[in-house]
Amino acid sequence: MKDRINEFTYKVCFASLGIVFVLSLGTKAHAQSSVPKKQLPQFEAVRGEYIVKYRSHFQLSQVKSKIQGKASLKNVLSEGSIYHVAMKSENVAALQADADIEYIEPNYYLLKFDEGLVGEPLQKMSAEDVTAQSSTSFTQSLAAVQALQAWNIASINDANNQPIVAPIVAIIDTGLDATHSVFTSSQALWINPGEIPDNGVDDDFNGFIDDVSGWNFITNTKAFDDDEGHGTHVGGIVVGAGLDIFSAHVDQARVQVMPLKFLDSVGAGSTANAVRAIYYAVNNGAKVINCSWGGGSYSQSLHEAMAYAYAHQVLIVAAAGNNASNNDSVAMYPANYDVPGLISVAASNDYDSMASFSNFGANMVHVSAPGVSIFSTYPGNTYASMNGTSMAAPFVAGIAAMALREAGALTGYQIKNLITGSVDLVTKLNGKVQTGGRVNEYKLLQAAKSSAQLSVLATQPGYTPSYKADRSPASESSAKAAGCGLVKGLITSGGSSGGGSGLGFLLVAMIPLLVWLGVRLRTPADGRDKRKFERFNLASEIKIQVGDKELVASMNTISMGGVSFNAESALEKGGLVTMRIASPDGHEQIEVQGKVVWSENNKAYGVQFVQSKTGALAMIQDWTKGLSKAS
Ligand code: CA
Repeated sequence: MKDRINEFTYKVCFASLGIVFVLSLGTKAHAQSSVPKKQLPQFEAVRGEYIVKYRSHFQLSQVKSKIQGKASLKNVLSEGSIYHVAMKSENVAALQADADIEYIEPNYYLLKFDEGLVGEPLQKMSAEDVTAQSSTSFTQSLAAVQALQAWNIASINDANNQPIVAPIVAIIDTGLDATHSVFTSSQALWINPGEIPDNGVDDDFNGFIDDVSGWNFITNTKAFDDDEGHGTHVGGIVVGAGLDIFSAHVDQARVQVMPLKFLDSVGAGSTANAVRAIYYAVNNGAKVINCSWGGGSYSQSLHEAMAYAYAHQVLIVAAAGNNASNNDSVAMYPANYDVPGLISVAASNDYDSMASFSNFGANMVHVSAPGVSIFSTYPGNTYASMNGTSMAAPFVAGIAAMALREAGALTGYQIKNLITGSVDLVTKLNGKVQTGGRVNEYKLLQAAKSSAQLSVLATQPGYTPSYKADRSPASESSAKAAGCGLVKGLITSGGSSGGGSGLGFLLVAMIPLLVWLGVRLRTPADGRDKRKFERFNLASEIKIQVGDKELVASMNTISMGGVSFNAESALEKGGLVTMRIASPDGHEQIEVQGKVVWSENNKAYGVQFVQSKTGALAMIQDWTKGLSKAS
């Protein structure tokens, strides 16, 4: 793996700061155990594909002319500014030279978050069989989500005694087996009212021909058939939040599902197609978007798509991930994008314990929902049990849609707050998720009804994503003003294992801190900020692990972007390292993965953060925002 890394690196700007910032198209795919690894993507990003954003609006013809000879256009992600291109890595620098380009990023892979089937899919032979098999599955496990009680109080008609239009939940996933009897009998499938089927015309002028019930962003066709199974299972859970999908007679669905396929037959998809699916969902009426997938690489274009959904008051439900890891330390995206209208969901079991595989995070994961042995629809008119945060998220998406039926005027952000405010507090989840609780549909619908009765106005706070600061000239100058601190008091220590030479080969001569954003100092208005520290009295710590060796460096100022150091040739070019950075008060710690890369500008090896760049950045910004101004 190691020797591939430098092959796919390229440098991106920040020359004004003297920083080499290398995006590395590396090898870390977040493999799930259910799929043979050989079928999964071998790289972190799609080889030879990039996402390019221009600073201002350009005509398509202008963009084509700008990229001519360097890249070829694959798709438009956002009209006028964001494009998906194919390009050889050696052309990236040339394209980057265009001052109109805001950023170029790799087209990262994203993977589904299920843990595979539990047993074999079950053919629906009779209602009794299925009921016996499903047991309490239609209430989403034995945990007291109180689905039955919720259905009993759910409104069918609105205040004018008209049937409530079922809110649309976009299932951005592997597709959907729309021929499954649950979806056909309940008429749960979204119908695009503006599109005439199969006439070969884009009747509603939305840019998609014959998109009657969804779209396939891989093939760019209306055929969203599920060749994997994941999306069909997720879709059943969404519909099942409103009714018993296992009953002999499935009622009229209370939510609509909009299948948007971007994950392929092994459950892998690209960021570019995820971004297109999100814009499609928002622009075509979805009120809730379910994301039972993710990855560890920050993507500005995906973050922007999430912010777009938020700006349109759409709720995003994101599975927290199945690595059993802490999302506060190691970011998972999209779950970790700090968009206010995004709710991150962990998986718990029948007994309200966190599922063994589930990611968690007292800050970054909001709630838990049942995600162990969840019975739902599966392709071929069958049913199956699956485990995963992939299964927990759609239940939250489904109950969010049920809440919208009661209080349709509320924004997705408000629905999120109703969900987080109506959880059942569970001791075992305390400290594992932000609310310390597992969702409760009945309490949620009660809260939604109250909101409607009180005529709560649709509101949501403004959101200025931090990504804008990443690359805008303004933030570069602010970073410049903050200056680059130097590491003092460097301490090295060998690993505990008796390796003799230990870290002797690793001569750390310097760690010039590559400040490009992190430290934007400001004085707290009232001095009450518990995070108030003298800028130059930080006692933070960087730990660099190389194999079983560990290097500890102390630093007196804190920043992001990367760390560089000199190394003997023993440190193989392209090595992976893990850095742990502690907060000034020592209460928090971020773990950032990096790859060793050669910096031509600095004539030195450096460690480029390749994972959780922005999640870590956000934490460091949080740590440093209370710093008193350096004199
Ligand atoms: Ca259309």
